[in-house]
Amino acid sequence: MTEPALAPAPSADTLLEALRARLGAAHVLTAPSDLDPYLVESRKLYRGSALAAVRPGSTEEVAFVVEACAAAGVAVVAQGGNTGLVGGGVPHGGVVLSLARMNRIVSLDPVNASIVVEAGAILADVQDAADAAGLLFPLSYASRGSARIGGALACNSGGIAVLAYGNARDLVLGLEVVLADGRVWNGLKALRKNNAGYDLKHLFVGSEGTLGIITMAVLKLFPKPASRTVGFVGLPSVRVALDLFARLRKRADRDLTAFEFIPPVGLDMVLRHMPGTVRPLAGAHGAYALIELASARPDADTRAELEAALSDAIEDGLVEDATLGASEAQNLGLWALREHLSDAQGYEGGSIKHDVSVPLSRLADFVEQASAACEAAMPGLRVCAFGHVGDGNMHFNLSQPVGMDKAAFLGAWADFNRIVHDIVTAMDGSIAAEHGVGLIKRDELQHYGDPVALDLMRAIKAGLDPQDRLNPGKVVALSSDPQPALP
Ligand SMILES: Cc1cc2nc3c(=O)[nH]c(=O)nc-3n(C[C@H](O)[C@H](O)[C@H](O)COP(=O)(O)OP(=O)(O)OC[C@H]3O[C@@H](n4cnc5c(N)ncnc54)[C@H](O)[C@@H]3O)c2cc1C
Repeated sequence: MTEPALAPAPSADTLLEALRARLGAAHVLTAPSDLDPYLVESRKLYRGSALAAVRPGSTEEVAFVVEACAAAGVAVVAQGGNTGLVGGGVPHGGVVLSLARMNRIVSLDPVNASIVVEAGAILADVQDAADAAGLLFPLSYASRGSARIGGALACNSGGIAVLAYGNARDLVLGLEVVLADGRVWNGLKALRKNNAGYDLKHLFVGSEGTLGIITMAVLKLFPKPASRTVGFVGLPSVRVALDLFARLRKRADRDLTAFEFIPPVGLDMVLRHMPGTVRPLAGAHGAYALIELASARPDADTRAELEAALSDAIEDGLVEDATLGASEAQNLGLWALREHLSDAQGYEGGSIKHDVSVPLSRLADFVEQASAACEAAMPGLRVCAFGHVGDGNMHFNLSQPVGMDKAAFLGAWADFNRIVHDIVTAMDGSIAAEHGVGLIKRDELQHYGDPVALDLMRAIKAGLDPQDRLNPGKVVALSSDPQPALP
Protein backbone atom coordinates (compact mmCIF):
# COMPACT_ATOMS: atom_id res chain seq x y z
CA MET A 1 0.00 0.00 0.00
CA THR A 2 1.40 3.40 -0.90
CA GLU A 3 1.33 6.23 1.65
CA PRO A 4 -0.60 9.34 0.53
CA ALA A 5 1.87 12.00 -0.64
CA LEU A 6 2.41 14.79 1.90
CA ALA A 7 1.74 18.30 0.69
CA PRO A 8 5.10 20.03 0.16
CA ALA A 9 6.01 22.56 2.86
CA PRO A 10 5.46 26.12 1.67
CA SER A 11 8.66 27.92 0.66
CA ALA A 12 10.04 30.78 2.72
CA ASP A 13 8.68 33.25 0.15
CA THR A 14 5.23 31.71 0.30
CA LEU A 15 5.33 31.83 4.10
CA LEU A 16 6.33 35.51 4.13
CA GLU A 17 3.58 36.31 1.64
CA ALA A 18 1.02 34.59 3.85
CA LEU A 19 2.29 36.45 6.92
CA ARG A 20 2.14 39.81 5.11
CA ALA A 21 -1.37 39.08 3.92
CA ARG A 22 -2.54 38.39 7.48
CA LEU A 23 -0.52 40.87 9.58
CA GLY A 24 0.02 43.63 7.04
CA ALA A 25 3.37 44.25 5.32
CA ALA A 26 4.35 46.83 7.96
CA HIS A 27 4.46 44.07 10.56
CA VAL A 28 6.62 41.60 8.65
CA LEU A 29 10.14 43.05 8.77
CA THR A 30 12.78 41.63 6.44
CA ALA A 31 15.06 44.58 5.57
CA PRO A 32 18.44 44.10 7.34
CA SER A 33 18.21 47.47 9.12
CA ASP A 34 14.69 46.64 10.42
CA LEU A 35 15.68 43.13 11.46
CA ASP A 36 18.92 44.06 13.18
CA PRO A 37 17.55 45.00 16.65
CA TYR A 38 15.88 41.59 16.87
CA LEU A 39 19.09 39.69 16.14
CA VAL A 40 21.32 40.88 18.99
CA GLU A 41 20.79 40.71 22.74
CA SER A 42 21.46 43.22 25.45
CA ARG A 43 25.01 42.06 26.22
CA LYS A 44 25.88 41.76 22.51
CA LEU A 45 27.33 38.30 23.13
CA TYR A 46 25.29 36.69 20.37
CA ARG A 47 24.27 37.80 16.89
CA GLY A 48 21.60 35.67 15.26
CA SER A 49 19.81 35.53 11.94
CA ALA A 50 16.16 35.33 10.92
CA LEU A 51 13.97 35.22 7.84
CA ALA A 52 11.81 37.97 9.31
CA ALA A 53 10.63 39.62 12.48
CA VAL A 54 6.85 39.64 12.74
CA ARG A 55 4.73 41.82 14.98
CA PRO A 56 1.27 40.28 15.49
CA GLY A 57 -1.40 42.44 17.10
CA SER A 58 -3.61 39.78 18.67
CA THR A 59 -3.64 36.23 20.03
CA GLU A 60 -5.33 35.08 16.81
CA GLU A 61 -2.49 36.58 14.77
CA VAL A 62 0.11 34.89 17.02
CA ALA A 63 -1.68 31.58 16.46
CA PHE A 64 -1.74 32.21 12.72
CA VAL A 65 2.03 32.91 12.65
CA VAL A 66 2.85 29.80 14.69
CA GLU A 67 0.62 27.58 12.57
CA ALA A 68 1.93 28.99 9.28
CA CYS A 69 5.54 28.58 10.43
CA ALA A 70 4.85 25.02 11.61
CA ALA A 71 3.44 24.16 8.17
CA ALA A 72 6.53 25.63 6.52
CA GLY A 73 8.92 23.86 8.93
CA VAL A 74 10.19 27.21 10.20
CA ALA A 75 11.18 27.91 13.83
CA VAL A 76 9.53 30.67 15.90
CA VAL A 77 11.45 32.61 18.52
CA ALA A 78 9.31 34.76 20.84
CA GLN A 79 10.70 38.11 21.85
CA GLY A 80 9.47 40.64 24.39
CA GLY A 81 11.74 43.53 25.34
CA ASN A 82 14.86 41.59 24.32
CA THR A 83 16.48 42.38 27.68
CA GLY A 84 17.16 38.74 28.58
CA LEU A 85 20.69 37.97 29.72
CA VAL A 86 21.20 34.39 28.51
CA GLY A 87 20.86 34.65 24.73
CA GLY A 88 17.41 33.03 24.90
CA GLY A 89 15.61 35.47 22.61
CA VAL A 90 18.23 35.54 19.85
CA PRO A 91 17.01 33.65 16.77
CA HIS A 92 19.31 31.32 14.87
CA GLY A 93 17.18 31.07 11.75
CA GLY A 94 13.38 31.05 11.61
CA VAL A 95 11.05 33.90 12.45
CA VAL A 96 11.22 36.26 15.43
CA LEU A 97 7.76 36.81 16.89
CA SER A 98 7.73 40.12 18.73
CA LEU A 99 4.97 40.68 21.28
CA ALA A 100 5.66 44.43 21.33
CA ARG A 101 2.34 45.46 19.77
CA MET A 102 0.34 43.39 22.25
CA ASN A 103 1.01 45.77 25.12
CA ARG A 104 -2.44 46.49 26.56
CA ILE A 105 -3.41 46.52 30.19
CA VAL A 106 -6.71 44.71 29.67
CA SER A 107 -8.43 45.03 33.06
CA LEU A 108 -7.80 45.41 36.77
CA ASP A 109 -9.94 43.89 39.51
CA PRO A 110 -9.25 45.69 42.82
CA VAL A 111 -11.40 43.29 44.86
CA ASN A 112 -9.68 40.20 43.48
CA ALA A 113 -6.38 42.14 43.55
CA SER A 114 -5.48 41.02 40.04
CA ILE A 115 -4.67 42.52 36.68
CA VAL A 116 -5.01 41.10 33.16
CA VAL A 117 -2.37 42.20 30.68
CA GLU A 118 -1.24 41.29 27.20
CA ALA A 119 2.15 39.59 27.05
CA GLY A 120 3.78 42.61 25.43
CA ALA A 121 2.84 44.96 28.27
CA ILE A 122 5.96 46.66 29.60
CA LEU A 123 6.73 45.77 33.20
CA ALA A 124 6.89 49.44 34.30
CA ASP A 125 3.45 50.06 32.72
CA VAL A 126 1.99 47.18 34.73
CA GLN A 127 3.57 48.60 37.90
CA ASP A 128 2.12 52.03 37.06
CA ALA A 129 -1.36 50.65 36.38
CA ALA A 130 -1.34 48.87 39.74
CA ASP A 131 -0.05 51.99 41.48
CA ALA A 132 -2.80 54.13 39.94
CA ALA A 133 -5.32 51.75 41.51
CA GLY A 134 -3.63 52.05 44.92
CA LEU A 135 -2.08 48.60 44.59
CA LEU A 136 1.37 47.12 44.02
CA PHE A 137 2.75 44.82 41.34
CA PRO A 138 6.02 43.97 43.04
CA LEU A 139 8.09 42.35 40.27
CA SER A 140 10.90 44.81 39.61
CA TYR A 141 14.43 45.14 38.28
CA ALA A 142 16.61 47.58 36.39
CA SER A 143 15.22 46.65 32.94
CA ARG A 144 11.60 47.29 33.98
CA GLY A 145 11.23 50.09 31.41
CA SER A 146 11.86 47.67 28.51
CA ALA A 147 11.16 44.13 29.76
CA ARG A 148 7.70 42.83 28.87
CA ILE A 149 5.45 40.61 30.96
CA GLY A 150 5.60 37.65 28.56
CA GLY A 151 9.40 37.73 28.72
CA ALA A 152 9.38 38.17 32.49
CA LEU A 153 7.15 35.11 32.88
CA ALA A 154 8.96 33.08 30.24
CA CYS A 155 12.20 33.64 32.21
CA ASN A 156 10.54 33.35 35.64
CA SER A 157 12.49 36.49 36.40
CA GLY A 158 13.34 37.51 39.93
CA GLY A 159 14.70 40.92 40.83
CA ILE A 160 14.69 43.08 43.90
CA ALA A 161 11.46 42.09 45.64
CA VAL A 162 11.68 38.30 45.59
CA LEU A 163 12.40 38.20 49.31
CA ALA A 164 8.91 39.51 50.09
CA TYR A 165 6.84 38.55 47.05
CA GLY A 166 8.59 35.69 45.22
CA ASN A 167 9.66 35.26 41.60
CA ALA A 168 7.48 35.94 38.55
CA ARG A 169 6.10 32.40 38.98
CA ASP A 170 4.66 33.35 42.35
CA LEU A 171 2.89 36.36 40.88
CA VAL A 172 0.90 34.69 38.11
CA LEU A 173 -2.66 33.44 38.47
CA GLY A 174 -3.45 32.54 34.88
CA LEU A 175 -2.08 32.47 31.34
CA GLU A 176 -3.17 32.35 27.74
CA VAL A 177 -0.66 30.50 25.58
CA VAL A 178 -0.36 29.72 21.87
CA LEU A 179 0.91 26.15 21.53
CA ALA A 180 3.39 24.83 18.96
CA ASP A 181 0.59 23.62 16.69
CA GLY A 182 -1.18 26.98 16.75
CA ARG A 183 -3.92 26.02 19.21
CA VAL A 184 -4.70 28.53 21.97
CA TRP A 185 -4.80 27.36 25.60
CA ASN A 186 -7.04 29.68 27.58
CA GLY A 187 -5.90 29.40 31.17
CA LEU A 188 -6.79 32.98 32.07
CA LYS A 189 -8.26 32.14 35.46
CA ALA A 190 -7.93 34.71 38.22
CA LEU A 191 -8.06 32.12 41.00
CA ARG A 192 -5.83 31.67 44.02
CA LYS A 193 -7.01 28.11 44.47
CA ASN A 194 -7.42 25.77 41.53
CA ASN A 195 -6.40 22.14 41.86
CA ALA A 196 -8.29 20.92 38.79
CA GLY A 197 -5.54 18.69 37.46
CA TYR A 198 -1.97 19.65 36.58
CA ASP A 199 -1.15 23.33 37.02
CA LEU A 200 -0.35 23.95 33.36
CA LYS A 201 0.61 27.60 33.70
CA HIS A 202 3.74 26.59 35.58
CA LEU A 203 4.93 24.58 32.57
CA PHE A 204 5.15 27.77 30.56
CA VAL A 205 6.57 30.02 33.28
CA GLY A 206 10.33 29.66 33.04
CA SER A 207 10.21 27.74 29.75
CA GLU A 208 11.95 30.59 27.88
CA GLY A 209 9.78 30.36 24.77
CA THR A 210 10.50 26.67 24.18
CA LEU A 211 7.06 25.25 25.06
CA GLY A 212 4.52 27.88 24.00
CA ILE A 213 4.04 31.57 23.36
CA ILE A 214 2.47 33.46 26.24
CA THR A 215 -0.05 35.96 24.89
CA MET A 216 -1.88 37.14 28.01
CA ALA A 217 -1.52 36.83 31.79
CA VAL A 218 -3.50 37.36 34.98
CA LEU A 219 -1.16 38.69 37.67
CA LYS A 220 -1.48 39.11 41.43
CA LEU A 221 -1.53 42.53 43.01
CA PHE A 222 -0.77 43.47 46.61
CA PRO A 223 -1.55 46.31 49.02
CA LYS A 224 0.70 49.29 48.34
CA PRO A 225 3.22 49.98 51.13
CA ALA A 226 2.22 52.92 53.31
CA SER A 227 5.69 53.23 54.77
CA ARG A 228 9.03 52.47 53.06
CA THR A 229 12.60 53.07 54.19
CA VAL A 230 15.82 52.34 52.37
CA GLY A 231 19.11 52.01 54.23
CA PHE A 232 22.68 51.63 53.00
CA VAL A 233 25.17 50.09 55.41
CA GLY A 234 28.91 49.48 55.52
CA LEU A 235 30.06 46.18 57.04
CA PRO A 236 33.34 44.32 57.44
CA SER A 237 32.54 41.33 55.16
CA VAL A 238 29.96 39.30 53.27
CA ARG A 239 29.85 36.89 56.24
CA VAL A 240 28.78 39.72 58.55
CA ALA A 241 26.26 40.87 55.93
CA LEU A 242 24.62 37.46 56.25
CA ASP A 243 24.56 37.74 60.04
CA LEU A 244 22.87 41.11 59.68
CA PHE A 245 20.37 39.66 57.20
CA ALA A 246 19.44 36.83 59.60
CA ARG A 247 19.00 39.32 62.43
CA LEU A 248 16.82 41.69 60.37
CA ARG A 249 14.68 38.89 59.02
CA LYS A 250 13.90 37.81 62.55
CA ARG A 251 13.33 41.34 63.78
CA ALA A 252 11.46 42.93 60.88
CA ASP A 253 9.86 39.72 59.59
CA ARG A 254 7.75 40.49 56.50
CA ASP A 255 8.64 44.17 56.54
CA LEU A 256 12.11 43.24 55.27
CA THR A 257 11.46 43.50 51.52
CA ALA A 258 15.00 43.69 50.14
CA PHE A 259 18.53 42.90 51.24
CA GLU A 260 21.06 43.43 48.47
CA PHE A 261 24.80 42.88 48.72
CA ILE A 262 27.25 45.30 47.08
CA PRO A 263 31.01 44.70 47.12
CA PRO A 264 33.44 47.64 47.45
CA VAL A 265 34.85 47.01 43.96
CA GLY A 266 31.32 47.28 42.53
CA LEU A 267 30.46 50.46 44.43
CA ASP A 268 33.69 52.04 43.19
CA MET A 269 32.84 51.12 39.58
CA VAL A 270 29.38 52.67 39.92
CA LEU A 271 30.76 55.89 41.44
CA ARG A 272 33.47 56.05 38.75
CA HIS A 273 31.22 55.57 35.72
CA MET A 274 27.57 56.34 36.44
CA PRO A 275 26.71 60.03 36.36
CA GLY A 276 24.73 61.41 39.28
CA THR A 277 25.77 58.73 41.77
CA VAL A 278 27.08 59.85 45.14
CA ARG A 279 29.19 57.94 47.70
CA PRO A 280 26.63 57.13 50.40
CA LEU A 281 28.97 56.67 53.37
CA ALA A 282 32.04 58.71 54.28
CA GLY A 283 34.48 55.86 54.86
CA ALA A 284 35.41 52.70 52.93
CA HIS A 285 34.14 49.32 54.12
CA GLY A 286 34.78 45.66 53.31
CA ALA A 287 31.17 45.11 52.17
CA TYR A 288 27.94 47.04 51.73
CA ALA A 289 24.26 46.15 51.90
CA LEU A 290 21.19 47.94 50.69
CA ILE A 291 18.23 47.20 52.92
CA GLU A 292 14.57 48.04 52.39
CA LEU A 293 11.78 47.81 54.90
CA ALA A 294 8.23 48.37 53.68
CA SER A 295 4.81 47.84 55.15
CA ALA A 296 1.24 48.32 54.05
CA ARG A 297 0.03 48.70 57.64
CA PRO A 298 -1.23 52.27 58.07
CA ASP A 299 0.43 52.57 61.49
CA ALA A 300 3.80 51.18 60.36
CA ASP A 301 6.92 53.30 60.88
CA THR A 302 9.60 51.48 58.92
CA ARG A 303 12.08 54.31 59.44
CA ALA A 304 11.95 53.96 63.22
CA GLU A 305 12.06 50.17 62.83
CA LEU A 306 15.18 50.20 60.63
CA GLU A 307 16.87 52.93 62.67
CA ALA A 308 16.46 50.92 65.87
CA ALA A 309 17.62 47.67 64.25
CA LEU A 310 20.70 49.29 62.75
CA SER A 311 21.72 51.16 65.87
CA ASP A 312 21.62 47.83 67.77
CA ALA A 313 23.68 46.27 64.98
CA ILE A 314 26.23 49.13 65.23
CA GLU A 315 26.42 48.63 68.97
CA ASP A 316 27.01 44.91 68.50
CA GLY A 317 29.79 45.55 65.98
CA LEU A 318 28.01 44.13 62.93
CA VAL A 319 27.45 47.41 61.11
CA GLU A 320 30.27 49.97 60.80
CA ASP A 321 28.25 52.84 59.34
CA ALA A 322 24.77 53.40 57.94
CA THR A 323 22.59 55.98 56.23
CA LEU A 324 18.84 56.05 55.64
CA GLY A 325 17.06 57.71 52.72
CA ALA A 326 15.27 60.77 54.08
CA SER A 327 12.99 61.17 51.05
CA GLU A 328 11.77 59.11 48.10
CA ALA A 329 14.43 60.81 45.95
CA GLN A 330 17.12 59.70 48.37
CA ASN A 331 15.67 56.18 48.47
CA LEU A 332 15.89 56.05 44.68
CA GLY A 333 19.46 57.42 44.81
CA LEU A 334 20.49 54.58 47.10
CA TRP A 335 18.74 52.01 44.90
CA ALA A 336 20.53 53.46 41.85
CA LEU A 337 23.86 52.43 43.40
CA ARG A 338 22.64 48.82 43.33
CA GLU A 339 20.86 48.95 39.99
CA HIS A 340 23.80 50.48 38.09
CA LEU A 341 26.18 47.68 39.11
CA SER A 342 25.82 45.67 35.88
CA ASP A 343 26.11 48.69 33.60
CA ALA A 344 29.12 50.06 35.50
CA GLN A 345 31.03 46.82 34.94
CA GLY A 346 30.61 47.34 31.21
CA TYR A 347 33.00 50.31 31.46
CA GLU A 348 35.72 48.15 32.98
CA GLY A 349 36.26 45.88 29.95
CA GLY A 350 35.24 42.25 29.69
CA SER A 351 32.95 40.77 32.32
CA ILE A 352 32.30 37.06 32.79
CA LYS A 353 28.96 36.58 34.52
CA HIS A 354 27.60 33.83 36.72
CA ASP A 355 24.06 34.00 38.04
CA VAL A 356 24.04 31.38 40.78
CA SER A 357 22.31 30.50 44.03
CA VAL A 358 23.25 28.43 47.05
CA PRO A 359 21.47 27.84 50.36
CA LEU A 360 21.80 31.00 52.45
CA SER A 361 23.81 29.10 55.02
CA ARG A 362 26.51 28.52 52.37
CA LEU A 363 26.52 31.93 50.70
CA ALA A 364 29.50 33.41 52.56
CA ASP A 365 31.48 30.18 52.03
CA PHE A 366 30.60 30.31 48.36
CA VAL A 367 31.74 33.91 47.86
CA GLU A 368 34.98 33.30 49.75
CA GLN A 369 35.85 30.01 48.04
CA ALA A 370 34.86 31.03 44.53
CA SER A 371 36.66 34.39 44.84
CA ALA A 372 39.86 32.71 46.00
CA ALA A 373 39.69 30.09 43.24
CA CYS A 374 39.09 32.65 40.47
CA GLU A 375 41.77 35.04 41.74
CA ALA A 376 44.24 32.14 41.86
CA ALA A 377 43.34 31.12 38.30
CA MET A 378 43.93 34.63 36.93
CA PRO A 379 45.84 37.06 39.12
CA GLY A 380 44.60 40.63 38.74
CA LEU A 381 41.04 39.59 37.93
CA ARG A 382 38.44 41.60 39.87
CA VAL A 383 35.62 39.66 41.50
CA CYS A 384 32.43 41.74 41.57
CA ALA A 385 29.97 39.48 43.41
CA PHE A 386 26.73 41.27 44.15
CA GLY A 387 23.09 40.54 44.42
CA HIS A 388 20.02 39.34 46.14
CA VAL A 389 21.49 38.01 49.39
CA GLY A 390 18.07 37.40 50.85
CA ASP A 391 17.38 34.93 48.02
CA GLY A 392 20.79 33.23 48.24
CA ASN A 393 21.37 34.57 44.70
CA MET A 394 24.71 36.07 43.72
CA HIS A 395 25.67 37.62 40.43
CA PHE A 396 29.22 36.34 40.68
CA ASN A 397 30.76 38.51 38.00
CA LEU A 398 34.42 38.69 37.06
CA SER A 399 35.89 41.86 35.58
CA GLN A 400 39.02 41.49 33.52
CA PRO A 401 42.43 42.45 34.93
CA VAL A 402 43.19 46.10 34.11
CA GLY A 403 44.94 46.32 30.74
CA MET A 404 44.22 42.75 29.64
CA ASP A 405 42.90 42.13 26.13
CA LYS A 406 39.10 41.86 26.40
CA ALA A 407 38.71 39.03 23.89
CA ALA A 408 41.47 37.00 25.56
CA PHE A 409 39.71 37.45 28.90
CA LEU A 410 36.30 36.45 27.56
CA GLY A 411 37.99 33.42 25.96
CA ALA A 412 38.44 32.05 29.49
CA TRP A 413 34.66 32.05 30.13
CA ALA A 414 34.32 28.24 29.95
CA ASP A 415 37.26 27.75 32.34
CA PHE A 416 35.71 30.09 34.91
CA ASN A 417 32.33 28.40 34.47
CA ARG A 418 33.94 25.16 35.50
CA ILE A 419 35.58 26.71 38.57
CA VAL A 420 32.48 28.59 39.76
CA HIS A 421 29.83 26.05 38.82
CA ASP A 422 31.78 23.18 40.40
CA ILE A 423 31.75 25.06 43.70
CA VAL A 424 28.06 25.94 43.34
CA THR A 425 27.19 22.33 42.58
CA ALA A 426 29.25 21.01 45.50
CA MET A 427 27.19 23.34 47.72
CA ASP A 428 23.92 21.99 46.29
CA GLY A 429 23.22 25.27 44.52
CA SER A 430 21.92 26.25 41.10
CA ILE A 431 24.03 27.37 38.12
CA ALA A 432 21.04 29.35 36.78
CA ALA A 433 19.37 31.26 39.58
CA GLU A 434 17.18 33.93 38.01
CA HIS A 435 18.21 34.76 34.43
CA GLY A 436 17.47 31.33 33.04
CA VAL A 437 19.42 28.98 30.78
CA GLY A 438 18.81 30.24 27.24
CA LEU A 439 21.79 29.50 25.06
CA ILE A 440 24.61 30.58 27.31
CA LYS A 441 23.97 27.93 29.98
CA ARG A 442 22.44 25.21 27.85
CA ASP A 443 25.55 23.05 27.80
CA GLU A 444 26.24 23.80 31.47
CA LEU A 445 22.78 22.49 32.33
CA GLN A 446 23.56 19.41 30.28
CA HIS A 447 26.84 19.02 32.20
CA TYR A 448 25.52 19.59 35.72
CA GLY A 449 21.82 18.71 35.44
CA ASP A 450 20.41 15.58 37.02
CA PRO A 451 19.97 13.05 34.16
CA VAL A 452 16.43 12.21 35.25
CA ALA A 453 15.49 15.90 35.38
CA LEU A 454 16.98 16.40 31.91
CA ASP A 455 15.01 13.42 30.57
CA LEU A 456 11.80 14.86 32.04
CA MET A 457 12.54 18.25 30.47
CA ARG A 458 13.11 16.65 27.06
CA ALA A 459 9.92 14.59 27.44
CA ILE A 460 7.93 17.75 28.20
CA LYS A 461 9.51 19.53 25.23
CA ALA A 462 8.80 16.56 22.95
CA GLY A 463 5.21 16.36 24.21
CA LEU A 464 4.41 20.01 23.65
CA ASP A 465 6.63 20.77 20.66
CA PRO A 466 7.42 17.47 18.93
CA GLN A 467 8.81 19.19 15.83
CA ASP A 468 11.15 21.40 17.93
CA ARG A 469 9.82 24.57 16.30
CA LEU A 470 9.62 26.85 19.36
CA ASN A 471 12.96 28.48 20.19
CA PRO A 472 14.97 25.41 19.19
CA GLY A 473 18.41 24.93 20.69
CA LYS A 474 17.62 26.79 23.91
CA VAL A 475 17.41 25.43 27.46
CA VAL A 476 17.53 21.68 26.79
CA ALA A 477 19.91 20.48 24.11
CA LEU A 478 18.49 18.11 21.52
CA SER A 479 21.12 15.86 19.97
CA SER A 480 20.63 17.37 16.52
CA ASP A 481 21.19 20.92 17.70
CA PRO A 482 24.40 22.49 16.41
CA GLN A 483 24.31 25.84 18.19
CA PRO A 484 27.30 26.64 20.37
CA ALA A 485 26.32 27.68 23.88
CA LEU A 486 29.20 30.01 24.61
CA PRO A 487 29.78 33.24 22.72
C1 LIG B 1 19.84 45.99 33.24
C2 LIG B 1 19.16 44.66 33.40
C3 LIG B 1 18.80 44.22 34.66
C4 LIG B 1 18.16 43.00 34.83
N1 LIG B 1 17.85 42.59 36.09
C5 LIG B 1 17.26 41.41 36.26
C6 LIG B 1 16.94 40.94 37.58
O1 LIG B 1 17.24 41.59 38.59
N2 LIG B 1 16.32 39.75 37.69
C7 LIG B 1 16.00 38.99 36.60
O2 LIG B 1 15.44 37.91 36.77
N3 LIG B 1 16.29 39.40 35.35
C8 LIG B 1 16.90 40.57 35.16
N4 LIG B 1 17.23 40.98 33.89
C9 LIG B 1 16.92 40.09 32.76
C10 LIG B 1 15.67 40.45 31.96
O3 LIG B 1 15.45 41.82 31.93
C11 LIG B 1 14.43 39.82 32.49
O4 LIG B 1 14.57 38.42 32.51
C12 LIG B 1 13.18 40.18 31.66
O5 LIG B 1 12.07 39.78 32.36
C13 LIG B 1 13.12 39.61 30.27
O6 LIG B 1 11.97 40.17 29.63
P1 LIG B 1 11.98 40.54 28.09
O7 LIG B 1 10.61 40.96 27.71
O8 LIG B 1 13.06 41.48 27.77
O9 LIG B 1 12.30 39.11 27.47
P2 LIG B 1 13.17 38.77 26.18
O10 LIG B 1 14.59 39.09 26.41
O11 LIG B 1 12.55 39.32 24.98
O12 LIG B 1 13.00 37.18 26.15
C14 LIG B 1 13.54 36.39 27.16
C15 LIG B 1 13.18 34.91 26.90
O13 LIG B 1 11.78 34.73 27.02
C16 LIG B 1 11.23 34.27 25.77
N5 LIG B 1 9.97 35.03 25.59
C17 LIG B 1 9.83 36.38 25.50
N6 LIG B 1 8.53 36.68 25.40
C18 LIG B 1 7.84 35.51 25.43
C19 LIG B 1 6.47 35.16 25.36
N7 LIG B 1 5.52 36.10 25.24
N8 LIG B 1 6.14 33.86 25.40
C20 LIG B 1 7.09 32.90 25.51
N9 LIG B 1 8.39 33.15 25.57
C21 LIG B 1 8.76 34.45 25.54
C22 LIG B 1 12.28 34.57 24.73
O14 LIG B 1 12.20 33.65 23.65
C23 LIG B 1 13.55 34.42 25.53
O15 LIG B 1 13.92 33.07 25.62
C24 LIG B 1 17.88 42.20 33.70
C25 LIG B 1 18.24 42.65 32.43
C26 LIG B 1 18.87 43.85 32.27
C27 LIG B 1 19.23 44.30 30.89
